[in-house]
This record gives sequence, structure tokens and C-alpha cells, in this order.
Amino acid sequence: MKTTTNTQAFIPKMYCSLFGHNYKVTKQVTYHVKEYTCSHCKKQLTTNSNGNLIELTPKFQEINDILERIHHSRMERKQRKIIASSPY
Ligand SMILES: [Zn+2]
Repeated sequence: MKTTTNTQAFIPKMYCSLFGHNYKVTKQVTYHVKEYTCSHCKKQLTTNSNGNLIELTPKFQEINDILERIHHSRMERKQRKIIASSPY
């Protein structure tokens, strides 16, 4: 007996191989590093330190989490400085 449920699961991947992935930014880690997810097959990519797009592995997810924390604490410090020495 054959069911169609299994073949339906392949459609998003087939769509991607025909039309290409449709990546959307899911997380802005730093100014240069972003995380992308394909809206069809849910494949995830990230930007590495060289600016190339690579597959988002758990290892890179970890790195991005650390980067994000550093980036946010830096931005906070910068914002405080701007407020303290407001040029306007
Ligand atoms: Zn895709």
C-alpha cells in the first residue's frame, strides 16, 4: 500500500532544488554575521568570519550565541557613551 504523505514531505526540497532556497534573516548576530533560514526546507545558514555563507551547525550556533552576547554588551556600552556625551 502506498500513501502520498511521504512524497509530500519532499516537495519543499524539490522546490528548493528547482527554484533555489528562499533564505530569510532569522537572527542578526552582529553587523556582519546573520543567521538565515530557508522558508521552504528550513535549512539554516550563517555568515562565517570570512563573510561566506555556511551551513549553521550546532558548533556555529554556539559561536553565534557568544558573538551576539559580546555584540549586545558592546552596543549597550556605546549607547551609554552617546547619552553621556550627547553632542545635540
Ligand atoms: Zn530550501
